[in-house]
Amino acid sequence: MYTISIDRDACDGVFACLVRDDRFVEDADGLAAIEVDDAAAVSATFDDDRRADAEGAAAACPLDAITVTDADAESDAVTDAGEGQP
Ligand code: SF4
Repeated sequence: MYTISIDRDACDGVFACLVRDDRFVEDADGLAAIEVDDAAAVSATFDDDRRADAEGAAAACPLDAITVTDADAESDAVTDAGEGQP
């Protein structure tokens, strides 16, 4: 499992990431987001064989706005769509 996160403060809409991994999309703000279940998220956890794609997108980002980290298998495979918890 791994988590992809986008630092939206760093992202400048260059979109080098989109061609590396089609989970990255341009959102209404003109910045990158991760498409999960037809919604745009800034962070999402996946359990699939596409980590290399995500890492390729991270490597391609000229602003280092993308991070790919190990996700805790014990935690829920939550897709954090940024719905702020109270
Ligand atoms: S490549 Fe980086 S700066 Fe460009 S849109 Fe993707 S995350 Fe943003």
